Amino acid sequence: MKRSLLLIMDMVSGHAQDGIRVPATGLCAPNVDGYVQAGLLPTFRELRDQGVFVRSWNRGTCNTPHGMRYLASGSYRAKASPKVDPYWGFDEIAPIPTILSACKKSHPAGKVAAFGSDAWMQTGWWKAPDCTMGWGSYYSDFITMQHAFSWMLANPEWKMVLLYLAQYDKTGNCPVFKDGAAYTQDKHHSIQMLDRYLWSVMHFLREKEWWRDTYLFVGSDHGCHVTCSVAVEEGRKRGIAEKDLANYCSNHQDPYDCYVWDFEKNRATARRADDCRRTLFMVGGGALPDRHRGTVVPEAEIIDFAPTVAHCLDIELATDGKPVLAGGT
Ligand SMILES: [Zn+2]
Ligand SMILES: [Zn+2]
Repeated sequence: MKRSLLLIMDMVSGHAQDGIRVPATGLCAPNVDGYVQAGLLPTFRELRDQGVFVRSWNRGTCNTPHGMRYLASGSYRAKASPKVDPYWGFDEIAPIPTILSACKKSHPAGKVAAFGSDAWMQTGWWKAPDCTMGWGSYYSDFITMQHAFSWMLANPEWKMVLLYLAQYDKTGNCPVFKDGAAYTQDKHHSIQMLDRYLWSVMHFLREKEWWRDTYLFVGSDHGCHVTCSVAVEEGRKRGIAEKDLANYCSNHQDPYDCYVWDFEKNRATARRADDCRRTLFMVGGGALPDRHRGTVVPEAEIIDFAPTVAHCLDIELATDGKPVLAGGT
């Protein structure tokens, strides 16, 4: 039986504009592609080498309520309206199916469960047919993971598990690099912690001998502003010293279309940064056919995540995206 584990890491940038260096690290802004190339993310490197790396974009609204919905449904059909809460911004919660509900419909015998922040463990997002566990917004990633593992051990016939790690989303309005920073106190150390969490997931699947039958999908909802026009503007508003602006990451607020900042000339360049839109999307696991291993999909969108899962697991789901793995599974 083929299964899938969907690992969603909030706010993780999958890739970055080429040629940008953060003075505090001498590296690119923290993102999976760049940090893998810098040798800092050994587990992401392994997943990349034996899987598919997708340069993915969020072309819609880059906040979490929308991003999670795009991931779950494979559709941008979540209309914003000025009349409702500007953050949630939905004029209706259309009852469109998600990859979790569709999995149950296509494979009724397989159990589907979700673990993460209560806010997104709702209908239309990550509510799962057989088991849904949600906690406060920034509940421990580590403990969330343990709950998922416990449930999988108790339900060895699991078909799909959604594991959502929230805490990296706290790395907004923080330095890119801070000496000896703990998880969520800066970006540089925090993204390396996510590499260890990814290791835990992969190690668990291997130890329980589920790896061979499992597709592992890793995704994110949005990135964040750093070394761009919006990060500088927001940093100044918040009183960040000029000398520290190149080491400052703001958040993922609009506008999401932003420009690379030239810190020497102290002005925006004409080059788009669009760092909030650069989402993470990787496919790996033992179930992935060999011909896909070590491949890169140069451009795709966040709404291609759900159809790719559907394609690999033989799930019927109508979406506005397309599977990124060409030529079948
Ligand atoms: Zn988010
Ligand atoms: Zn930006």
